[in-house]
Amino acid sequence: MQDRKDSDSRKLLKRLKDILAAPGGGQDRLDQITYHIADSMGTQVCSIYLFRDANTLELCATEGLRAESVHRIRLRLGEGLVGRVARTGRYVNTADAPSEPGFRFMPETGEEVFPSFLGVPIQRVGERLGVLVVQCREPRLFSEDEIYGLEVVAMVLAEMTELGVFQGGHADGMPPAHRFPLMIRGATAQEGAAEGCVWLHEARVVVTNPVGDDPDRELVRLHEGVAMLRSTVDKMVAAADMGGEGEHTAVMEAYRMFANSRSWLKRMEEDIRLGLSAEAAVEKEQSAARARLEMAADPYLRDRLHDLDDLSNRLLRILTGQGANTGAAMPGNPILVARNIGPAELLEYGRRLRGVVLEEGSVGSHAAIVARALAIPLVIHASRITTEALNGDTILVDGDQGIVHLRPEESVHKAFLDKIAMQAEAQNRYASLRNLPATGTCGTTVQLYMNAGLMADLPSLAGSGAEGVGLFRTELQFLIRNHVPRRAELAELYRRVLDNAQGRLVMFRTLDIGSDKVLPYMKPQDEPNPAMGWRAIRVGLDKRGVLRMQLQALIRASVGRPLHVMFPFIADISEYEAAYRILMQELSREQRMGHPMPTDIRVGAMLETPSMAFAPQKFFEMCDFISVGGNDLKQFFFAADRENERVRRRYDTLSSSFLLLLRQIVARCDEARVPLSFCGEDAGRPVEALVFAALGIRRLSMRPASIGPVKHLIRRVSIADLRKIVDEHLDSGRPNLRGPVTEWLARQ
Ligand code: PEP
Ligand code: MG
Repeated sequence: MQDRKDSDSRKLLKRLKDILAAPGGGQDRLDQITYHIADSMGTQVCSIYLFRDANTLELCATEGLRAESVHRIRLRLGEGLVGRVARTGRYVNTADAPSEPGFRFMPETGEEVFPSFLGVPIQRVGERLGVLVVQCREPRLFSEDEIYGLEVVAMVLAEMTELGVFQGGHADGMPPAHRFPLMIRGATAQEGAAEGCVWLHEARVVVTNPVGDDPDRELVRLHEGVAMLRSTVDKMVAAADMGGEGEHTAVMEAYRMFANSRSWLKRMEEDIRLGLSAEAAVEKEQSAARARLEMAADPYLRDRLHDLDDLSNRLLRILTGQGANTGAAMPGNPILVARNIGPAELLEYGRRLRGVVLEEGSVGSHAAIVARALAIPLVIHASRITTEALNGDTILVDGDQGIVHLRPEESVHKAFLDKIAMQAEAQNRYASLRNLPATGTCGTTVQLYMNAGLMADLPSLAGSGAEGVGLFRTELQFLIRNHVPRRAELAELYRRVLDNAQGRLVMFRTLDIGSDKVLPYMKPQDEPNPAMGWRAIRVGLDKRGVLRMQLQALIRASVGRPLHVMFPFIADISEYEAAYRILMQELSREQRMGHPMPTDIRVGAMLETPSMAFAPQKFFEMCDFISVGGNDLKQFFFAADRENERVRRRYDTLSSSFLLLLRQIVARCDEARVPLSFCGEDAGRPVEALVFAALGIRRLSMRPASIGPVKHLIRRVSIADLRKIVDEHLDSGRPNLRGPVTEWLARQ
């Protein structure tokens, strides 16, 4: 029985293959295919629906329904049973179609209602291409074997669609796969707009032979491929073992378990017995995993499905001999498209990229940090972009809205280019302010600095008109490596940073690791609440070796010039005292060893927890400067995770309670005569920056791209006048100042 089923399926696939090989138009092929499938499965109806655009399915061929309805019947995604199959990526099998929720009778297809319905998705690694349907007159459920068999046929159809063999003839009006425009809504990780051509980080694997002629030979190929895959994975696990234990190894072990999974192999063997080639079998199981992945909410299950997806990709490359590098040339205006990407890989592409679109990623991810340094727009959570996009496709990245337009219609394209032109015009306007001070009409000047952390940031120092680097995030240099950098390496790097700054001030913040910034080679801490866990100065004081090494590197890099060191995440005066002591010890050690010294040493703290607004006076007196880390300060003040999309925009920086906290910090710093700056993201938002200036903060440090807009606004208004408005409303108990400030701005 099993053998007969296998040989029937192989016979059908063989026929499909012959149809593919014979000359003929696309419509002709589709018609023949529906005939053969209905014949082989013993059903009265077989129909093929293909996507006309991202949301519309079109009946493209049928055996058994009215011929006139071909290319006339169209369904929206999710409409009727066919639309349901397309939307969910899962089959629908019913003996009583009319009683199914969402059933829609289409009289155009004929008078008759066929109660038995089996529809399976035509999909290829998560890419929806269409739906294959068989229907019967007598009410019955299709068997497991029949469903499986139809899925195998659908797999071959998917490959054929992808190869474009259905073009030509009546079907000519159908856009081939990857041709229709698509708008994908993701999330913003870095603002800006860019137009360019898709460059896939991992080139797609193309399967040209979906049908296997000889199942035994295909089984041997599969087993050889799997053996090779297992040995690669074993090597990867061994390499991970060398790097330490903990979660990383556990993940690798799970990966290995999958590579050795019997059930995965068994399903692929079965696909091959039904007539698929080894690579088509891998792809079929990968497609199923992708479809489940899209539905899965459980993070553990999602991770495992990801593992399976990765392994399938590796196995496909082994079987097809197609490496990740296809030899294709990168376009001149590349927009990188990837599922995810590490910071080091992204840096390697560097400034050649116009923008980045990721299927995954997060706002605080290292890739986002690098994209920020490169000043290129980054959209994350762009679902299915890697399956939809082809190398060379036109793509528009709207980092402000978190939207991607793939193969845009002309009108969209044009409107987008207008937007880019407008932004460029604004940039030109800002460029003309580059060498002018940020002085309000009242004569008050605010010093504008930039935030940095990578060498890639430094060219912006001259271009943006920043007075210096108000925050140099030293951890980024640790994040982009896969080992702890050596002292000499760091000293050289800091030296280059200072050289580039050409005498302008650079405030080096010592390592702020932990929380969202987990080093790849650091043993992950299993902390339920890492942002409030073992991070920043807490790690520095507990693991003094690394902090000392970094301080030594900073001292050596600053020989003959001033050094500014800033300690992150100080939550108690004792921590600042301890860090300060360590720096003093290192300085005297260097001196004892006869090394030349920096000309001046300035030490400061980042104020990132509300506790420090209430710190003993001595803390303020001990600091040469203080910088408010608004990202963290706000997160702890409002108890709202800065990484959590659901809550992070919930609390306004211009709420009175937060501004009253800042006013208190300003007063305390004034009292101790210690210079105060603000270096969180809010410093780069013009209205917020202006209000900070009105509160008395005279130094702001921000993304280089924000310096122009902030300076532009400051130069047009009177900070002294705004101060009156701010004080008046804060004192009168108004809960939020955004309204009065915006109204005042509108009047100016
Ligand atoms: C901050 O918290 O505002 C800050 C500047 O530091 P980071 O964003 O690196 O935590
Ligand atoms: Mg911080």
